Amino acid sequence: MTAIDTAGLKTMFDEIAVAIEADKDRLCQLDGVIGDADHGIAMALGFGAVRDVLAALDLSAIEPTALLNTAAKSFLNAVGASSGPLYATAFMRGAAAVKGKAALADADVVAMLQAMAQGIRDRGKAELGEKTMVDAWQPAAEAAATAHAAGRTLAESLDAAFAAAERGAEATKDMIAAKGRSSRLGERSLGHMDPGAASAVTVIGAMRKGLA
Ligand code: ADP
Ligand code: MG
Ligand code: MG
Repeated sequence: MTAIDTAGLKTMFDEIAVAIEADKDRLCQLDGVIGDADHGIAMALGFGAVRDVLAALDLSAIEPTALLNTAAKSFLNAVGASSGPLYATAFMRGAAAVKGKAALADADVVAMLQAMAQGIRDRGKAELGEKTMVDAWQPAAEAAATAHAAGRTLAESLDAAFAAAERGAEATKDMIAAKGRSSRLGERSLGHMDPGAASAVTVIGAMRKGLA
């Protein structure tokens, strides 16, 4: 049983910022193949802004919901690419899912992940199989929920989420892009991993590290 407070969530965002910064070039390269080569820059700008804003907050004065809403706003303001509103919506939905909690129990973390994945789906209107970050986020959230329901620890549930995200991102290589910029390529998008699915693996891996 864990209880993740605002300090714990800040640690999570710090881990994401470090991991995305380290992955920036690869994500730009992936986006260069089927998009406009800015995905790593966009994600690094977004999570760098979140890290800086959270560093200036008095964490003892706010609840997890306010922290997640602040992260959403900071990410949105920093990112001009499609990933901006997608992750901003994810964090806003995550915030709503944990409203009123001073700290997050395992079930709350799982609910936050599920709300994040649903938020990305709602914002982008992408279904599974359309070669987007949804193909990593949705199976990851489902895997976490299934593991948690089976009595697994938070660490085990986040391990399951990470593994599912990796499989989902890998599977995007065999998909034809149907949403976002790369949908213009049609069948020429085949054979390449979706950059947003790739970065989702990095984000979820860092969340696992930061939370469990
Ligand atoms: P842009 O295409 O505006 O440059 P980014 O490069 O930051 O934005 O992000 C591209 C990623 O965003 C894609 O690889 C895909 O995973 C994701 N994406 C784009 N459109 C959608 C959508 N409608 N729904 C879900 N994800 C999407
Ligand atoms: Mg791009
Ligand atoms: Mg762009």
